[in-house]
Parts: sequence; structure tokens; C-alpha cells
Amino acid sequence: MKLSTSDILEIVRDIGKVIEDNKQYLTELDAAIGDADHGINMARGFRAVSQKLEGMRSEDIGEILKAVGMTLVSNVGGASGPLYGTAFIRAASAVQGKSSAGLDDFVSMLDAAIEGIKSRGKAELEDKTMLDALIPAVAALREAEAEGMSLVAAFARAKEAANTGLLHTKDIVARKGRASYLGERSFGHQDPGATSSYLMLASIHESLQELRR
Ligand code: ADP
Ligand code: MG
Repeated sequence: MKLSTSDILEIVRDIGKVIEDNKQYLTELDAAIGDADHGINMARGFRAVSQKLEGMRSEDIGEILKAVGMTLVSNVGGASGPLYGTAFIRAASAVQGKSSAGLDDFVSMLDAAIEGIKSRGKAELEDKTMLDALIPAVAALREAEAEGMSLVAAFARAKEAANTGLLHTKDIVARKGRASYLGERSFGHQDPGATSSYLMLASIHESLQELRR
């Protein structure tokens, strides 16, 4: 299964809806170990993204993802804006000039996104950040690709891996971001950014199931 530019637009719009639906949940998670704004930040960013995309007429998936990233950088306050913004901008460069994308492209996009987040935020696996959901997810995608799985089946696996990584953020202490100021007191709490990353991957899986019909 290869996705068209309009499929990608649909996927991004669906992510925006999922973020909006989970705005309060994300903010509550951030209230426990941060400053209670993650849901607000993300919802503001994706509202700006959907406005931006409405006015865009491009066949280039890279151009679309770049616009998403730039919009997030300039509309989201807090650490997550520049981090997710950079992630989308880097993902964009992996599919520059393309008007269709398959599983191999998704692996490249996610890889590039993770590299971007790492270079911007200097975090690694187990620091209790969004990377704890994203890194296991791309590993699962890559495995699925090697096994010749379909895009939808691959994302089902990525979503599961992200969920396992997400739940693991409860068992570790934050070493990056605002939650790290709490030290040991961050233990036992689920990371808001890992949660939004999981939600985005789950949303992509859901959209892919819809698109396959
Ligand atoms: P802020 O912490 O500035 O209020 P948000 O609340 O929107 O920003 O986002 C917090 C989330 O950002 C955290 O839950 C974590 O997942 C992520 N995060 C924070 N710092 C980093 C970092 N250096 N690298 C990766 N992710 C980070
Ligand atoms: Mg916050």
C-alpha cells in the first residue's frame, strides 16, 4: 500500500482531531510532573496546522510535512513545539519531492524525526520523554518492513511498541525537560510527551485502517 498526498493530508488532519480530543488528558498528565500545558500546547499547534493545510495545494508530501513542522515550531509554546516541529521538518526531508509514500518511507521519516528530536533536545532512550514511545515504534516498523508486512500491520506493531514504551515511562525518573526538576518525584507518572507521541502513532494506525477500506 502506497499513500498519496491526499492520504497524508488526511492522516495529519486525523492527528489534529485526536490531539484535540485528548487535550485535557495530556494537560492532566503534564499537571502531575510539569506545568499543565502539554494538551493546550499541542491543541493550539495542530489547530494552526489545520488552518495552514487548508490553504495549501501541494502534491509534495515533503512540502506538506515541512509546513506542519514550521507551523508547530512557531505556534507551540513549551519544549514540545520545537521538538515536534523539528521532528516533522526532518521527516519532511526524508520524503522531499515525493507524491506517494510506502512503509520504507515511513521508516525513513520516523528515523529522521527521532534524529531531529535527539539533536534538538539532547535526550536519549530512558530519559522519560517522547523518545521512549518513538524509538521502540520505529524499531517495530523496521522489523515489520523486514518481514514484508503491510503498512497497516506494521503500524499496528508500532503502536503496540509505543504503548509498551509509554507505560515504561512510569517506571523511570525524568532526566530531561521540566519533569527532570522533580527528580525522584517524577517516578510513577506517565510522561505527557510520550503519551502524545503514542496517540499520534495510534491515530496513524486508525487512519490507515480507514484508508484501506
Ligand atoms: P514544557 O515542558 O516546556 O511545558 P510541554 O509540556 O508541551 O512543554 O511538553 C513536555 C514534554 O516534552 C515532556 O513530557 C517530554 O516528553 C518532552 N520533552 C521535554 N524535554 C525534552 C527533550 N529534551 N527531549 C525530548 N523530549 C522532551
Ligand atoms: Mg508543559
